[in-house]
Amino acid sequence: MVVQTPAAPATADRAAKKKWVYRFTAGKAEGNATMRALLGGKGAGLAEMTNAGLPVPPGFTITTEACNAYFAGGKRFPDGLWDEVLEGLSAVERETGKRLGDPKDPLLVSVRSGAQMSMPGMMDTVLNLGLNDETRAGLAKLTGNERFAWDAYRRFIQMFGRIVLEIDAAKFEHALEAAKKKAKAKQDTDLGADQLRVLVDDFRKIVKKEKGRDFPSDPKEQLRLAIEAVFRSWFGKRAHDYREVNKIAHDLGTACSVVTMVFGNMGNDSGTGVAFTRDPNTGDRTLFGEYLLNAQGEDVVAGIRTPHKLAELEREIPKAYRQFTEIAERLEKHYRDVQDLEFTIERGKLYMLQTRSAKRTARAAVRIAVEMVREGVIDKKEALRRVEPVHVDQLLLPRFDEKAVEQARKEGRYLGKGLNASPGAATGRAVFEADRAVEWKGKGEVVLLVRPETSPDDFHGMVAAAGILTSRGGSTSHAAVVARGLGLPCVVGMGELNVDLAKRTMKVGDKTLKEGGTISIDGTTGEVFLGELPTISPDYEKETELHQVLKWADEVRTLGVWVNADTPAECVRARRFGAEGVGLARTEHMFREAERLPYVQAMILAADATERRKHLRKLLPFQTKDFREIYKAMDGLPVVIRLIDPPLHEFLREIDMKELARITGLSPAKARAHVESRRAQLAEENPMLGLRGCRLLLVFPEILEMQIRAILGAAADVAAKGVVAKPEIMMPLVGTMGELHRLRTQTFEVAAAIEKERGTKIPFKFGTMIEIPRACVIADEIAAQTEFFSFGTNDLTQTVLGISRDDAQKSFLTRYVEEKIIPTDPFVSIDQEGVGAMVRMGVERGRKTKPDLKIGICGEHGGDPASIDFFHRAGLTYVSPSTFRVPSARLAAAHAALAGRTQRDR
Ligand code: PEP
Ligand code: MG
Repeated sequence: MVVQTPAAPATADRAAKKKWVYRFTAGKAEGNATMRALLGGKGAGLAEMTNAGLPVPPGFTITTEACNAYFAGGKRFPDGLWDEVLEGLSAVERETGKRLGDPKDPLLVSVRSGAQMSMPGMMDTVLNLGLNDETRAGLAKLTGNERFAWDAYRRFIQMFGRIVLEIDAAKFEHALEAAKKKAKAKQDTDLGADQLRVLVDDFRKIVKKEKGRDFPSDPKEQLRLAIEAVFRSWFGKRAHDYREVNKIAHDLGTACSVVTMVFGNMGNDSGTGVAFTRDPNTGDRTLFGEYLLNAQGEDVVAGIRTPHKLAELEREIPKAYRQFTEIAERLEKHYRDVQDLEFTIERGKLYMLQTRSAKRTARAAVRIAVEMVREGVIDKKEALRRVEPVHVDQLLLPRFDEKAVEQARKEGRYLGKGLNASPGAATGRAVFEADRAVEWKGKGEVVLLVRPETSPDDFHGMVAAAGILTSRGGSTSHAAVVARGLGLPCVVGMGELNVDLAKRTMKVGDKTLKEGGTISIDGTTGEVFLGELPTISPDYEKETELHQVLKWADEVRTLGVWVNADTPAECVRARRFGAEGVGLARTEHMFREAERLPYVQAMILAADATERRKHLRKLLPFQTKDFREIYKAMDGLPVVIRLIDPPLHEFLREIDMKELARITGLSPAKARAHVESRRAQLAEENPMLGLRGCRLLLVFPEILEMQIRAILGAAADVAAKGVVAKPEIMMPLVGTMGELHRLRTQTFEVAAAIEKERGTKIPFKFGTMIEIPRACVIADEIAAQTEFFSFGTNDLTQTVLGISRDDAQKSFLTRYVEEKIIPTDPFVSIDQEGVGAMVRMGVERGRKTKPDLKIGICGEHGGDPASIDFFHRAGLTYVSPSTFRVPSARLAAAHAALAGRTQRDR
């Protein structure tokens, strides 16, 4: 077969000027750590380590640009690439004194993928490249180790066959299992040279049968095909899925590093391992890792054999261990961050194969950031950048209720323990295949993915699952690494667990569970239980390191963080989380409580204002009590209370007819008939654009009166007891000045009446939501009549885009996002160009009238980090997320400030 294919003509001219290959040979590298975008994280790390004088096997990295040019040219190598590869190869050959394909002293290489962002296990790598019948024989002779040479060969054919030739992996695995069975071998390492030789023959037959051609024996052809396969893996399904979830651009491309092979499987003075310079689960400052003697890298990562703790290496190969610990320390210092390292020991000699910034759990991220500031390694701002808002959310993850755990133990529901690979607790129905996980989730089930081990092909199922359990693998196995990245609870290496994929069952001891059975896993302790366990939230007060990070965040952020809270209990919690005010109390939520709803319903059924007032009088004490409690909880902080907003029919969904009859004095039959006719009367084709928000208050001014009485009456009540109540009355859905004038007049009339009755002044602020596009347009006029705005971005998104906030997801919006018709769900992350432009207009016009106008946002977007960044830039005063997102919003606001772009002159 011809090795070289002609370059793609379209790109030839431009491409010719590019440098495609960067070498790291003879202790010197052409690249360095800053070139991640071009060389990928792996290539940049190898270059940096080489320049630092660390033992790195020589090699070269093909750039991400080459990968992109390959695809742009219709899957052809750009002009000049293959020549540069051959030159790089010659440099490696010169340094090692070996040659690719030389039967006497063959050079073997690995061909490794590596993108700018770490995508662990999502793309492909080929090891032992360069082997054929002749070089295998040479390798055997040189090493004096027949078994080793056959093992390397069979691994190569297996890996190349799967990745490059795209043959179903199971075909090779079946042959391997059969060989082991025949030889009565327990592990792969128990197979002898003769058995491996037969296996190589079987593997080659598989290739011939599946591909209709012989296994390629020309090492240069192998190299070229492997590079193409690595490029291809950038667009492989699992890499694609991973980028979707992690919001990584699809056009970055992968680099490809070709590295001299070193062998961890040359006997018991050889080995391979992965390590972290600190514990990636807890952040503990100890070298943390695993290794296997007499093994190759994929054995550790795939979790096929259970690896040993790194500390044991000190006993087994002390010299290499000491050198490794020194290098690890040096690399952490050099990069000023925790490193994820890969190493191989070949006959006692240590080689470094990778260094990259380590993925870590939320707990570890926070702890490491705080401790590195204390150690003087990084400053507070850097520490803030190293913690993500999602880490903060994860730290407040639920865990199992201990009493329920005790009970489960007594009931014999404790199944066993695996490695605690990623924290958090999850209860759900067991499924055993990734596709099933997706399918079941689609049906609304909470599922846990249970597997012998996971591979990158399971990624979509892992994303769909609420937690992951495997019977094999260590804490650096694929399942563990991916789960940590996704923030999912995960237990791995649960030895007593038997998963039967064919029968779709799992078995532990004498307990068998079928697909769909419920289990509970605790990724923090590693424990697994049968059946459901209730979860409880963690104790925020005890998270001292998190408090430290959030305190630093408060020092740098300029955006306020308030909270959407409707109940006193929520207010108390939110205040502990650091909320600086209530940005939205939705009063209608208080109407829905059982003892109140019948009065609300009676009020809705009322024939006239007099009757409505009668029922509203009953509601007044309830609502007053609510507000008193909220003021007490928020003592000294502002509380924005929005008057009733939803369409009235929403209160008529469930009716206790007996109670309603009692209240209205009607017979149950009459009450029912009355309800039906009122329902019919209130029915609207577009209720969200109908009689709701301030329109309700204008049609039924008695409701406004009752609510203002409750708000201000409660304020006067608690003020008398020394509580500093700061009510801010907010009108929903205002779109015209006519509405606003009337609402304002009525509000101030009621306020004046209450003040007169009570003989005291009751301070309050008057403001509006801005959630109708027209309100943004007339924001200058609105500002003249109000003291604050709050953007209701849920309704504003609905009205600007003309997309229903309630129905769109299921019918088309999710599909729009999947098919990239729009980049993200605009109800989750603000549509910056459209809705965002309206927000900017509202801010600009409002502040033209009142430069100091206080402007908040209380839609769901107030808890979304990307949206928070936008609101910071738009010059808002505060964001108001839901209670549990308050801590992460504080950090997101700090990140926005650190990014240093604000339009507002503060
Ligand atoms: C909004 O529309 O953004 C808002 C906060 O109000 P609600 O969600 O109650 O309509
Ligand atoms: Mg709204």
